[in-house]
Amino acid sequence: MIKGKILQDYAELIIKIGVNLQPEQGLEIACPIEKSEFAVELTKAAYKYGAKIVNVRWNCDQIDKLNYANAKTETLTDIPKWLVNSKNYLVQNNFCYVAVSADDPEAFKDIPAQKLFEISKAKSKALKKYSDCVMSNGIRWCVVSVPTSAWAKKVFPNQSDPEQCLSEQIEKAMRLNTENPLLAWEEHIRVLEKRANFLNQQRFSYIHLKNAKGTDLMVGLCDGHIWTSARELAKDGVPFMANMPTEEIFTAPHRLRVDGVLKSAMPLCVNGQIIDDFYITFKKGKIVDYCANVGHGALKGLIETDKGTSRLGEIALIGKNSPIAKSNVLFYNTLFDENASCHLAIGQGYTTTVKNGDKLTKKELLELGLNDSTEHEDFMIGTPDLSVVGIKENGEKITLFADGEWVI
Ligand code: ZN
Ligand code: ZN
Repeated sequence: MIKGKILQDYAELIIKIGVNLQPEQGLEIACPIEKSEFAVELTKAAYKYGAKIVNVRWNCDQIDKLNYANAKTETLTDIPKWLVNSKNYLVQNNFCYVAVSADDPEAFKDIPAQKLFEISKAKSKALKKYSDCVMSNGIRWCVVSVPTSAWAKKVFPNQSDPEQCLSEQIEKAMRLNTENPLLAWEEHIRVLEKRANFLNQQRFSYIHLKNAKGTDLMVGLCDGHIWTSARELAKDGVPFMANMPTEEIFTAPHRLRVDGVLKSAMPLCVNGQIIDDFYITFKKGKIVDYCANVGHGALKGLIETDKGTSRLGEIALIGKNSPIAKSNVLFYNTLFDENASCHLAIGQGYTTTVKNGDKLTKKELLELGLNDSTEHEDFMIGTPDLSVVGIKENGEKITLFADGEWVI
């Protein structure tokens, strides 16, 4: 269990460099009810740094499951106005938002995939204005994790104390085992920013991804794309980190310029269901063929959500020697697994990954190639033999990854 001083350090890290809460600013926390002690620590840390008010929204997989199993789809897809208003309230009042992601990866495995996707689609549609704001850093937000019992059991099924094992992994990934976690993060951020700067100087038109598993994909980049890493600037000019941990350097693919095939490298968990062992084929940016040996219905639901879920919104590069990748643990939680492997995302692109993105209209962003969708779902494609080559407009090629690791 993460507890005592380490839990305090963890909470402070999230408040201070995660959302970077400023004096007299409100904070909302979404947290599994099983982990109330973590929400309490976050609240204490928030007040230590001068919070105006802290509100907590509890969640519970078991209650969600009972609702999904028993309530009618038409009821579950009727998203209440108060929920939409409460999210918009966060934006209007410049709140920070911490989401504690610790779901049971298979919480909803017995619920029909179609029903889950109708619910998720209705929710995403109702909250589109809010998610657009989050994706363009209109508020400062941070996704973090603590172990819950069902999740830990899935990750360490054969250990006598799964929660302890998962705690140790999270402590390592969060650099909480270092003498000064805050300094360790500052150093880590510096290394990532240096690489992002290098990529930004190159002005690549395409990134070519290839491995022995069968991935052979040309990913065109948005005109005016920006490679971004751990620390971003919110609209109010205050820096923050949207994910902790984070190892990625990412940017925006061009919605019309992706061609070839990708093979998944790891399972991913969407809406309490696992999708694994799949391929996706693209033509001119659009998904034209796909098949998953595990969770095909869930993949189909995701890809068919809206027009934008058949195109890409993110490409992210992570070396195979990142601390999370080296742990060799499959977390069944995208916050961790995406930081162990190069990944792509289906759906919405980040306006922050194109030049002046926050000042452009939706139409202008589409013209630059930024994808628009109600969803954004990462999935892992990085294998230990992955090669990544950047290709410039004049045809010049620069190898970025050989055998799954940075060479620049
Ligand atoms: Zn990512
Ligand atoms: Zn993503």
